[in-house]
Amino acid sequence: MPSARAHACTDPKHHVHDAAGYVAAVEAACVRRGLRLTPIRAHVLGLVARAEKPLKAYDLLDRVREGDGPGAPAPPTVYRALDFLLEHGFIHKLESINAFVACHHPSSRQHSVPFLICDTCHSATELEDEEAVELLDARARALGFVPQAQTLEVHGTCARCAAA
Ligand SMILES: [Zn+2]
Ligand SMILES: [Zn+2]
Repeated sequence: MPSARAHACTDPKHHVHDAAGYVAAVEAACVRRGLRLTPIRAHVLGLVARAEKPLKAYDLLDRVREGDGPGAPAPPTVYRALDFLLEHGFIHKLESINAFVACHHPSSRQHSVPFLICDTCHSATELEDEEAVELLDARARALGFVPQAQTLEVHGTCARCAAA
């Protein structure tokens, strides 16, 4: 398996090669960081990782219900699990489409990254570009603004759809 650092981000499905392996990697990261990946958190993470596209909140709730039947956890429980995964940087929320994607470098902490969102195939590609994030941060601070979070989402057409 290539290291997360060396992982190219050009594959729109880069998150989902191995959902079980991904959950295991997050589990290991949680142990290292003293966090608890409870069964519901692992379950929600697995659903997000297995989705081929960014997963909308209502789709996620549907999948939880489908998988677990009448014993399915209630929506607030699912949302709390999502909050945990977001807070610790294991998944990202795409605000402009209200959907979630697994982060493909789960060992790094919560981080801001630009996303490229294809409006044709609905894939989302995490752009590992610290420079863009740092530049915005520096510009904000130069104005005396104290930045806490960044949402950088670029909509358009991915290379594969553009070529089709
Ligand atoms: Zn990420
Ligand atoms: Zn596309």
